[in-house]
Amino acid sequence: MRRFFGNLGAGLRRWMIGRYGADELSRFLMWCGIILLIAAIFKPVAFLAIPAWIILLYSYFRCFSRNIVKRSKERDVYLRITGKFKSRFSILKKRWRDRYTHVYYRCPGCRTTIRVPRGRGRIAISCPKCRREFIKTT
Ligand SMILES: [Zn+2]
Repeated sequence: MRRFFGNLGAGLRRWMIGRYGADELSRFLMWCGIILLIAAIFKPVAFLAIPAWIILLYSYFRCFSRNIVKRSKERDVYLRITGKFKSRFSILKKRWRDRYTHVYYRCPGCRTTIRVPRGRGRIAISCPKCRREFIKTT
């Protein structure tokens, strides 16, 4: 039995040679498909099963695809889109975490967000990126 599963694993590995495999986009698509399939249990939105299967099949197609260049480009687009949201969200999280100790300002020159300690009164802030100085009350 153990040998059978060992052979199965080796066979699967051999079969996956030259294929793209799973990445962040196919994992995301798989979860979307699963969530849509679960939602499709309910009668009023039962039609969701069709796009759910299309999304799931596409995510499997991406995993087993041999066109690695094209799949990597799709992944790059996906990461670029989600990266913006992730970085925006992490900035919001950080702001919320130290809302009592720091103040955040935008540089009027380059729009960079600058973190300044709270309660220092009226201070001149110099942007670390473009070196522009501006005066704010913290
Ligand atoms: Zn600046």
